[in-house]
Amino acid sequence: MKIYPIETGNFKLDGGAMFGVVPKSIWQRTNPADANNMIEMSMRCMLIENGNRLILIDTGLGNKQSENFFSYYYLFGDFSLDKSLKKLGFHRDDITDVFLTHLHFDHCGGVIERNENGLLVPAFKNAKVWSNNKHWKWATEPNARERASFLTENIIPIKESGQLEFIHRNYNDQIGFDVIFVDGHTEKQMLPKITYQGKTVVFMADLLPTVGHIPLPYVMGYDTRPLLTIKEKAAFLKQAADKEFYLFLEHDAYNELCTVKHTEKGVRLNNTYKFKDIFN
Ligand SMILES: [Zn+2]
Repeated sequence: MKIYPIETGNFKLDGGAMFGVVPKSIWQRTNPADANNMIEMSMRCMLIENGNRLILIDTGLGNKQSENFFSYYYLFGDFSLDKSLKKLGFHRDDITDVFLTHLHFDHCGGVIERNENGLLVPAFKNAKVWSNNKHWKWATEPNARERASFLTENIIPIKESGQLEFIHRNYNDQIGFDVIFVDGHTEKQMLPKITYQGKTVVFMADLLPTVGHIPLPYVMGYDTRPLLTIKEKAAFLKQAADKEFYLFLEHDAYNELCTVKHTEKGVRLNNTYKFKDIFN
């Protein structure tokens, strides 16, 4: 097995929304805001080469939305999914599986693109696309609070193309890694948990967007069940500190990986790393 981080682009989100009840005077120490109160975010996906499968975890937000839509997210930097794949000698047609942690647009938008005739078509034409039945139902019958994050054009065409597959258990032999299900951010978000080079790597998605979110009350305003996030984060971080997990950060613009440790104040950051510093 070989794992690669795949940068798909950077964007910005409102710092207040990203930190819920935590005041700016505190969160800006780890996540500095610009004049519009926006903080820098990455959309760092993961590519897993395992036997004859090439699995992409999340896709970034893609490129089919309107200029007006993108103007709210201040895209910046030179990263793109295609460029990142090319650097490793891959093409999007080589992808056999796209695993979507959840269907919020910044995680799944890249899975569907618009062709030259304006039609919505699969961006990974040879891939199965993995979600789960409870999250799919949740995303296709969205509540008013998450409606702006579940975009019909990102979701419905996955089913229409025949690519959609559901994960049913914590382990699926086809994808070859464990899945942790969490419900605080959204219903049945899925976090890949992978044994790699003798270590455990967990793709944190929106359970832990940045290292600034490690203390328990530092929960995004976007979360649908913030008290549940705290509970899920507490249980997960304890285990991560006990077992020395490497946490892969999708949204941290400055840190690819981190580890955590027990302290008197609770679980805190131990160290941050570049992926290539730990794994070869
Ligand atoms: Zn999300």
